[in-house]
Amino acid sequence: MKEQQTTNHSKIIVILIGFFCLAYAALNVSSNTLEWNFLLVLAFTVFVSPRLSLALPRSYFIVTFSDALIYLAFLVYGGETAIILASLEMLASCLVMRSKGINFGRLMIPTNISIIAISTTITYLVWLIAIKYNQFDFDHTPHLIVNLGVLAITQFLVSSFLAAIFHPIKNKKGFFETWRTECFTSSMSQLVGCGLAGILYKLFSYADIFTTVISIFGLGIAYLSYRQSISEINQAIAQAEQAEREKAETEREKRIEVEKYAERLSDSLKKEENANNALRKSQKAFQHAALHDSLTNLANRQQFTEILHKLIGDFKANPETSFYILFLDIRRFKDINDSLGHTIGDKVLMIVAKRFLRLVQKTDTVARLGGDEFAIILRNIPSVNKALKVARRILQSVSQPFSLSENRIFISVNIGIAPCDVEYETPEDILRDADIAMHYAKEKGIGAAVFTKELRTRFLERVQLESDLRHAIERQELLMHYQPLISLKDGSIMGFEALLRWQHRELGMISPAKFIPVAEESGLIIPITIWILQETCRQLAEWQRASPAYQKLIVSVNISGKHLSNDELIDDVEQALELAGLSPQSLKLEITESVAMENAEHTIDILTRLKRTGVQLSLDDFGTGYSSLSILHRLPFDTLKIDRSFVYSVGENGENSEILQTIVSLAKNLKMKIIAEGIETESQLSLLQFLGCDFGQGYLMAKPQPKEEATRMLYQRTHWLPNYEKENFNVREKDSLDDNLPVF
Ligand code: C2E
Ligand code: MG
Ligand code: MG
Repeated sequence: MKEQQTTNHSKIIVILIGFFCLAYAALNVSSNTLEWNFLLVLAFTVFVSPRLSLALPRSYFIVTFSDALIYLAFLVYGGETAIILASLEMLASCLVMRSKGINFGRLMIPTNISIIAISTTITYLVWLIAIKYNQFDFDHTPHLIVNLGVLAITQFLVSSFLAAIFHPIKNKKGFFETWRTECFTSSMSQLVGCGLAGILYKLFSYADIFTTVISIFGLGIAYLSYRQSISEINQAIAQAEQAEREKAETEREKRIEVEKYAERLSDSLKKEENANNALRKSQKAFQHAALHDSLTNLANRQQFTEILHKLIGDFKANPETSFYILFLDIRRFKDINDSLGHTIGDKVLMIVAKRFLRLVQKTDTVARLGGDEFAIILRNIPSVNKALKVARRILQSVSQPFSLSENRIFISVNIGIAPCDVEYETPEDILRDADIAMHYAKEKGIGAAVFTKELRTRFLERVQLESDLRHAIERQELLMHYQPLISLKDGSIMGFEALLRWQHRELGMISPAKFIPVAEESGLIIPITIWILQETCRQLAEWQRASPAYQKLIVSVNISGKHLSNDELIDDVEQALELAGLSPQSLKLEITESVAMENAEHTIDILTRLKRTGVQLSLDDFGTGYSSLSILHRLPFDTLKIDRSFVYSVGENGENSEILQTIVSLAKNLKMKIIAEGIETESQLSLLQFLGCDFGQGYLMAKPQPKEEATRMLYQRTHWLPNYEKENFNVREKDSLDDNLPVF
């Protein structure tokens, strides 16, 4: 915008100066100029010359006859005439060019006219100065040439400089750069013009008509051949330019193609890089997944084993680098999964994992080995006591209750600790021992235990026991002992508690306290209980069939917690009754209090269903399992068995009998019958009788006996209480009784 304004201002200034020059020329033109021959020159200049102009190749300048005519006008008619003629010629040339479609900008035609008027005026002034100091005779050819030279050079310099002033404004090139590249070639047109003017001057001055015709003819031919050459040059240039343009176009296309190719290449490189990144990422993710537990993000068994492997090697090389392995197992995690679902189970595992991580050092490693099993490597621990301390801290922290989806969750763990030892060759060795310690802690209910060699021996025995127990039924090593359940009111026998015995072929009789936990843990308790149910029902049916007096006898069978949580228990019971042809009321199932309370809702459910089959239910070992009274009254038990520890702790004179009293009155309130276990002394018996206990079981009346002995006792006794025996009961002679024994 600003440049446009500058250009316009310059044009106006040039136009004003040009107008001034023209006015000056018009005022000073000599009157004798207007002769016919001048008018002829004028007409030729205005009408013919612009049409004969030749554009110089690669130049803004045009060779016209006008230059020649203007120089001729200088020589013949003077400078003023030349100024007017030049201006008119310019006007005519511009109009001709415009008619040919060339566009002139605003004020450009008057500007061009003014430029030529100004340059011709300046040329005229320079020429005037030149002729003032030199006496020129135009008839003298060297003088004529000098004159024409002065005119041509001045005209060229002035017009080309003026033109060069306007171009830089447009082209943003420097003034001299424009003059050199775009205006200098106009010197050619000036020289040609001045040469032509010299010839014409000579012709006008000296030639006759013949010479003139010949000369004009010659000039015409020269013009035509020059025009031809120019046109050829122009054509060649045009062709060269076209070829250049085509070349440039081809190069441009090639460049575009190359750029496209480069773009595609960079695209595909980018894609490849992305693919590589994705691959690297997936490799990393794969490596991470291979070494981490997906749920808790802790190290997995593989990573844990690898670390342990290295630590074992380090310890062998340098015993200073000691470490401890903690094996952790969540107590009754299966119950959480079964009762609250696996989603909650997963969340519990995540919370527990976080708690473990919080309690150990950064240098320690926490891993999830699978399921609810975790392991920790403790480093930089100076003694086993310190390791136990960490374990206790974990026990305490993990047992803090938390809420998940509106469930209050209580978690506890069992921890086994194994110190590093040179005897360990593989990670599995040390993990196995930590596991053994964990099992010991679980069994003893002590939370955490440190591995010792004795524990291993015990464990191996247990493993052996489990393996032998698997074959115990088929090898007929299992048998039942029966312990009478006696009415404390009248000394009659109510029935028997069936107690399992294992007659091991090498180890002899094994106590149930030793093998029942093994059976429970291994799950073998279920097939064993099925066998017990069938065996005892069959035995009772046999006793019942033997005499009408025994038809009300019952048998009490202990049911383990594992079997209770199995829905098939009901079928197993019904099947045993059916096989023996026994009425359901004759069978009583004993469930230990701690088991009954473990999963109270489930116990209520299954016991209610069991009750519907008609069997009786007894709550065993009452007082050891922290019963909740609110649950107790919902459990459909018929009898409550007082644990023998309460009976045992009562003194000779009835000391410590308060708990017994409480339990008896509680059972009465709950409308349950009471059986007292472990009656060994008469004072215990008397107290229980005094408290109103319904039934009793104990060595005082009878020890658990094999079926044959139980049968014998059944026939020997009609009354089972010792004081009765002494006071009321006439013991028949054993031999005479033996004769009357029914055959079973
Ligand atoms: P329990 O069900 O409470 O059985 C009573 C235990 O007390 C029996 O021990 C019995 O021999 C013992 N006992 C009875 N009277 C006296 C006494 O006056 N003094 C003393 N010191 N003990 C007395 P046993 O037979 O060793 O059984 C121990 C436990 O093993 C049972 O306790 C029961 O929990 C379990 N058990 C025994 N047989 C079976 C069975 O067939 N199935 C299941 N699941 N558990 C069984
Ligand atoms: Mg029992
Ligand atoms: Mg008991």
